[in-house]
Amino acid sequence: MRNLYVHVPFCAGKCDYCAFYSEPAPDIHSIRLWLDRILRELEENAPRLARAETVYFGGGTPSLLPDDVLLRLFDAVRSAAPAAREISIEANPFTVTPEKAAVLTSFANRVSLGVQSFHASLREAVGRRSHDGPGPVEAVRNLRASGLRNLGLDLMYALPGETPDLWKRDLELALKLEPEHISAYSVTPEPGTPFAARVESRPDDDELSQAMWELAGEVLGSAGLPRYEISNYARPGFESRHNSNVWHGQTYLGLGPAACSFDGVDRWTRIPDLARWLDGAEPEYDRIPRKARLGEMLMMGLRTVRGWTRAEFEAAAGCFWDDFDAPLRDLASRGLLTLSPDAIVPTQRGLAFWNDVAESLVFSS
Ligand code: SF4
Repeated sequence: MRNLYVHVPFCAGKCDYCAFYSEPAPDIHSIRLWLDRILRELEENAPRLARAETVYFGGGTPSLLPDDVLLRLFDAVRSAAPAAREISIEANPFTVTPEKAAVLTSFANRVSLGVQSFHASLREAVGRRSHDGPGPVEAVRNLRASGLRNLGLDLMYALPGETPDLWKRDLELALKLEPEHISAYSVTPEPGTPFAARVESRPDDDELSQAMWELAGEVLGSAGLPRYEISNYARPGFESRHNSNVWHGQTYLGLGPAACSFDGVDRWTRIPDLARWLDGAEPEYDRIPRKARLGEMLMMGLRTVRGWTRAEFEAAAGCFWDDFDAPLRDLASRGLLTLSPDAIVPTQRGLAFWNDVAESLVFSS
């Protein structure tokens, strides 16, 4: 397994738009049971992780874990995945006191700070609660003072009531914090969430969201953080290696409830339920026919600006993309990608309308 993902399924509260699995306001007993099981799984999987090059602690809110829990977790990952060079962790600004920043950066060399929006009213419109504690500016100061050199900010746009001007202001405020990386996702009404129950999506939303996506590309690109994936921007050399690896078909092991894994052939997902996961519930296997797997791999790589080289696809898939010649030619004729014998590269239009690219490749597999 080339990449390790650890899911920390705990949050201070539940945001209205969130479709990720997490337990709001966990008790310390549940956290310690989760830790014990993760430590056991890390030990069991150590032989498969010996060459893992990236680790990603996601959630949930990993930075909500008490310091002693984080330190034990870090020690165990350090021994199980000694070759890992990029260690990322997600953090919520309100948790990042000077002490927490020191703990996080004692192992992680990349921190993604979940800011979402600098405008409280926009955060509140999607039920993102404000908590006591450091705000984004203070959290960044604490992380930099602890020596962090690779800082990411996570933003959301197309929030209810948001105008392009407000979005531009958010981008400018984010740039003032001098991050190396920015992720920017449009808020989507995921089925089953309180947010989806109270908003109706209107055709205008798509146009507005598209305009904000383009604005992000312009503002961040001219500030030295060009887009390298549909929703991700970085200073050259600071692209997320973990995510780039996953988009390009590399193997990953996911630990924790709701975590997904891929071993190059099969995919499996741990049960999204803490109690059942602690009881040892079997993961759900998704045995994908070979051609479908190749189609998925192709489309995920085409989320990135660089797309695929023939050599990279062959290394990940064990074959070339010849089975997909017809849909690839069709997509090229529609201006969604450029195709040469050695590479497939999405156009700007292909990134903006990636769903069309994905649909075409999935239907052909
Ligand atoms: S903090 Fe993140 S993971 Fe937790 S509920 Fe909010 S969006 Fe979901």
